[in-house]
Amino acid sequence: MNSLGCFNNIARNIKTRIPYGIWAKLIERRIYMIKIVDGFENSKQISKMIEDVAGELGISQKLEEIVIKHPPADSPLDMNYLSSDNKSLDLEIVDSLDNLEGRVRHELMHVADQLNEKFKYKDSLIPRKGTGAFRRYKYLWNVYIDSRLVKSGKPSYDTQEAREREIEECYPELSAALRKRCFAFLWGMGLLDFEQISAMSRDLFSAVKELKSLAQSHGEKQITFETIEELKSYRK
Ligand SMILES: [Zn+2]
Repeated sequence: MNSLGCFNNIARNIKTRIPYGIWAKLIERRIYMIKIVDGFENSKQISKMIEDVAGELGISQKLEEIVIKHPPADSPLDMNYLSSDNKSLDLEIVDSLDNLEGRVRHELMHVADQLNEKFKYKDSLIPRKGTGAFRRYKYLWNVYIDSRLVKSGKPSYDTQEAREREIEECYPELSAALRKRCFAFLWGMGLLDFEQISAMSRDLFSAVKELKSLAQSHGEKQITFETIEELKSYRK
């Protein structure tokens, strides 16, 4: 029996009229749960922050469960993993109160994007791991998230200045002047979807005509890096 049927049965049995709003609350509680694994020093603050932000973003209505976990010791980063049926979410959160709201908002925006039909998220559009395109894909989506947070006055994972510095790691072949103009364009972009992010991560300049003309005016070209090592060791 589903939870609504279950609650209706209880209502019939106890012959009480309970206002719909209260049932709705009970049902929501019944089907949506936040769990946190053992060993978090800041478990109260972290769970509360995730509950509040997930509610605000409308994620709690779409998911059945969020499990808060520790990131692996060898890559201590906040990450999220949505199950293939989009019903449960594993959220790896570093056990710290440093910029907790910005980190949680950022991670849950990835999830809200994935659950938003208009965003058209598809696993098959993610560039292959370990390539330059994959590094650029992560960067472009992160910039899209943090720019929306900053523009709406909310705490973000990284500041605008930190994201602007990071573009050098992703596009070392471009001049500082062109990178600056590309970043300003990316930060100011309106709504994007996953198809656009995926296309831009493979080729920033052919995917977006404004960036193409910027690159042409500087007489510069993007390089495709087959491996992350090639990208990291690139010297002009
Ligand atoms: Zn991110």
